[in-house]
Amino acid sequence: MWKLIRPDAYRVWDDGTVRERLWRYYEVFNDRLYAKFMIALKVGVDVELDAELGKLWDEHDRISGVFRSVLRRIDAGELDLGNIDSPKISYLDAKVELARRILSQCHFCERRCGANRLEGEKGFCKLGRESYVSSAFIHTGEEAPLVPSGTNA
Ligand code: SF4
Repeated sequence: MWKLIRPDAYRVWDDGTVRERLWRYYEVFNDRLYAKFMIALKVGVDVELDAELGKLWDEHDRISGVFRSVLRRIDAGELDLGNIDSPKISYLDAKVELARRILSQCHFCERRCGANRLEGEKGFCKLGRESYVSSAFIHTGEEAPLVPSGTNA
């Protein structure tokens, strides 16, 4: 259906520059490579999720290099994601925990207002601990290579 609405979004992939710059996005889009979050679930971290913040960031940064290496090997077909055991605590778990802690002195956006959203304090955006999704839909109005996009607001 989206090909009828936005034929340019289909034709844009004939452009060599677009293909070169967005090659991984294109491969995931066509189910030929795994999305990064799926790989992040298979990479383990060596830290507990209740660790002190600095320790958690240090481990996150260390494992980021491991993640990139695993990603390259999976993309190259040297590793099979299905054969990797799930770790006790994944790289994605660590990211989720770091995101949760950012809420305690919020700097998720450039307002950097520091609200403790975990305690219900509201910042400039008026969001507290919970965020809300008011709509989710297939967006066909983005730039051609990004159509269709899963969008929520
Ligand atoms: S405006 Fe909202 S998202 Fe931005 S820093 Fe403040 S509380 Fe966080």
